[in-house]
Amino acid sequence: VAERTDCVFCRIARGEAPAHVVAESPLSLALLDVQPLAEGHCLVIPRRHEVWWHDLTAEETTDLFGLARRVARRIKRAYAPDFVATYARGRRIPHVHLFLVPSFAGDPLDRHFNALEGWQEGARALVALADPARRAEVAGRLRAEPDEGAP
Ligand SMILES: [Zn+2]
Repeated sequence: VAERTDCVFCRIARGEAPAHVVAESPLSLALLDVQPLAEGHCLVIPRRHEVWWHDLTAEETTDLFGLARRVARRIKRAYAPDFVATYARGRRIPHVHLFLVPSFAGDPLDRHFNALEGWQEGARALVALADPARRAEVAGRLRAEPDEGAP
């Protein structure tokens, strides 16, 4: 994919749009997110336009994650978070960007991931309930319960 003039990250990589760059490597840049989830929230982007990180070359991937590692360590030292949450999405800007977000217990990101874990566990419990043997067990339990106050 060629660099694109309508892509803000391509424009930043070419030095044509402003950004608070915190670290650089030959093939990647790390910059502050303009709408941070927390102080110190950084994005790590490849200089070349690509939508999915797994479509980068092996060299670009190594460079991107190497820079992400350097910056995550800086965030850890600077803010002493419980975690530096790291993920790749790109729904709003279709140019690879890794999120590096310092996260503390109870903050929105922590609550978000806790909610996802709760949903995962909940979904597993629901799937188990669809199993015929498990349904028979549940039905047996309810049949065995006495009717309260029945005549
Ligand atoms: Zn781009």
